[in-house]
Amino acid sequence: MPLEFRKIINQTRFHHPLKDFALTTVPNEIRFDPLTGQAVRIMSFRSMKLERHDWTPFVEESRRKFCPFCPPKMEKVTPRFPEDIVPGGRLQVGRAVVVPNLTPYELYSAVTIMSPEHYLSMPALTAEIISDSVCAALDFLKLAEAADPGGARYGSINWNYMPYSGGSLIHPHLQILSGPAPCRYDAGLIRCGREYLLQNGRNYWSDLINTEIKNNERYLGQTGNTHWLVTFAPRALCDVTAVMPEKTTINDLTRRDIDDLAAGLRKVIEFYDEINIASFNAALYLARREDEGFWVTARIVGRYTIFPLVGSDYSHLQVMHDEPWTLHIPEELTRQLKPRFN
Ligand SMILES: [Zn+2]
Repeated sequence: MPLEFRKIINQTRFHHPLKDFALTTVPNEIRFDPLTGQAVRIMSFRSMKLERHDWTPFVEESRRKFCPFCPPKMEKVTPRFPEDIVPGGRLQVGRAVVVPNLTPYELYSAVTIMSPEHYLSMPALTAEIISDSVCAALDFLKLAEAADPGGARYGSINWNYMPYSGGSLIHPHLQILSGPAPCRYDAGLIRCGREYLLQNGRNYWSDLINTEIKNNERYLGQTGNTHWLVTFAPRALCDVTAVMPEKTTINDLTRRDIDDLAAGLRKVIEFYDEINIASFNAALYLARREDEGFWVTARIVGRYTIFPLVGSDYSHLQVMHDEPWTLHIPEELTRQLKPRFN
């Protein structure tokens, strides 16, 4: 099957209480990811503006409490890797430090402490900090694979920024995973990428970039060799995809590639900050040499609550039905975000 941007636009009718109960039609969309077929829903709060969220009270409270990532305690309270995996026990790139995750949830589970600073606001997340942190995470994945080629086969690098994203600590950090098999979503990307290549004789992500450039509805631009798109079928708020052409494994990525990735993430984060998205998740998806048809991609999505402090942007749809939903039409988001990539 060739690449298809499939969507269903529903026109739902009811008598509207704010319009004297006039019969009203409210549009809503179901979109299907062109690679995986995953259904997502786009609700009709199109002009909803988020309130500015002030993290100051949470940051101040967290400073008064124990933080394992703040120096000089970090040296004493974070674990060290076994010498046969990471000689010296910890890894450092710039000011970013990789340590084992005290609460592992995969065979190899680590965190990059991105900076000695306890709190970095969105404007303080420089491209250099992001790039150093991702490079340190990649160095760990390479060492884990070298030490255990059968156990550390599939890695990913993940970021929960601030509490709405599920992050448990204010102190900025990345989550690094590596195990014998990829996570469920990554496994789907790898499997569907291979099937697409077999059926079409072309790489899916190459077709995606070319099609998005031609359609000019969701294409944002390039940072170096990396292409940026607003995602057709978003997994959450303001979902942006980065594609790194011809890159498949951790060993394909150079410092230059990661600098390009960080430069693009920086643009998206600036935009999130401007529209009051106070928190986000990001992931870098990786595969193996034998996974033909896969190109390295990154995703970043905003996290928020509609009702500050007590709310959640996750509902029955994500938790009980595996169907992400979001509020923004991707093509409208592209119009807002694209000028930053020009
Ligand atoms: Zn701290």
